[in-house]
Amino acid sequence: MVELESVELFGRLRPEEMAALRQVAVERVFATGQEIFREGAPGDGLYVVQEGRVEIAGQVQPHPRLVFSNIGPGGVFGEMAVIEQLPRSAGATAAEPTTVYFLPRAVVWSLIERSPALAGVFLQLISRRLREFNQHYLQEVVLAERLAAVGRFARSIVHDLKNPLNIISLTAEMYCQPEAPPALRATAQGRIQKQVGRINDLITDILQFSQGDQSTARVPVSYAVFIEQLAAELRPELETKSVRLDLEASFPALKLILDANRLRRVFINLVHNATDAMPSSGTITLRIRQDAREVVTEIADTGSGIAPEMQEKLFQPFATHGKGHGTGLGLSICKKIVEDHGGRIWARNDPAGGAVFAFSLPLPAQ
Ligand code: ADP
Repeated sequence: MVELESVELFGRLRPEEMAALRQVAVERVFATGQEIFREGAPGDGLYVVQEGRVEIAGQVQPHPRLVFSNIGPGGVFGEMAVIEQLPRSAGATAAEPTTVYFLPRAVVWSLIERSPALAGVFLQLISRRLREFNQHYLQEVVLAERLAAVGRFARSIVHDLKNPLNIISLTAEMYCQPEAPPALRATAQGRIQKQVGRINDLITDILQFSQGDQSTARVPVSYAVFIEQLAAELRPELETKSVRLDLEASFPALKLILDANRLRRVFINLVHNATDAMPSSGTITLRIRQDAREVVTEIADTGSGIAPEMQEKLFQPFATHGKGHGTGLGLSICKKIVEDHGGRIWARNDPAGGAVFAFSLPLPAQ
């Protein structure tokens, strides 16, 4: 049980002020779950918990009821209404058998007016409460945002899986018809393989997207050799789509600290995007420039350029535009990998046509 004299808020009151307070203090007893005051009720005074525990809660859209704080013995509540003389902004309920001191507003207010020390302590109390509330509310907002993101993620995956599965199901039915001619069966087989490929790509993207930073796998790599090998690997596939891959000039002989496997994914995603933007034919040009701190790699294409509606959200997950089979994960994966390497990624449209995607990688410390 807490005596009024030992409450921190009143610690600096003079004995006669304390005596005045004591005289007007009324003890009130509440059972578990009993309401002490309701949200919106007139602010008639200040409460001090003598024993028990009080829950302060209110409505913050879209939540039906949010608990702002729990107040135990010696704790003070209801102070906002004393200052503002406005209706209560939250309700108070006894969370267990509770006894409180009730101090009428007029007495507390006249004490505040007379005692600068009490006014100071009051200010501190209110500032602490606002801080607590802010923190609590922010946590709730972050949690709600996370849940919404998981929902968006799940919806997008389900949607992207449903299409190829539907096609596979229909095509398999066609394949299994006893009278299906061999040519139709061959077409069906090709179609099923393509859709399985799509599902595979989607799963790879999701795995890449959810992978954490595996910085342990980074080792010094000759960047020129890495790019030349990658270009040789990509060229045959690009040729089938009438796309040429040019490496501009010779690359500086330097070693970067890389996770070559993950960085390979950045090049593959950017080159595939460039190819998608050049459906009939075109050229991809790879350039590198180096300054004192970093190496910038540019991948330029002669395609359609970045659509205006994509400009703001290019690197956001699930942002896709103008593709039948886009998951919208490719560029966000690139961003994550580049940032895990300590670099940045950005893009622009070339005034002469086509898009330029660029990313930087830091030079190793001397
Ligand atoms: P996805 O390719 O699955 O749509 P990405 O994150 O890789 O997802 O790309 C997002 C969008 O950015 C693409 O849908 C496309 O509209 C645009 N984009 C990406 N690369 C290029 C490019 N080289 N030229 C034009 N638009 C591009």
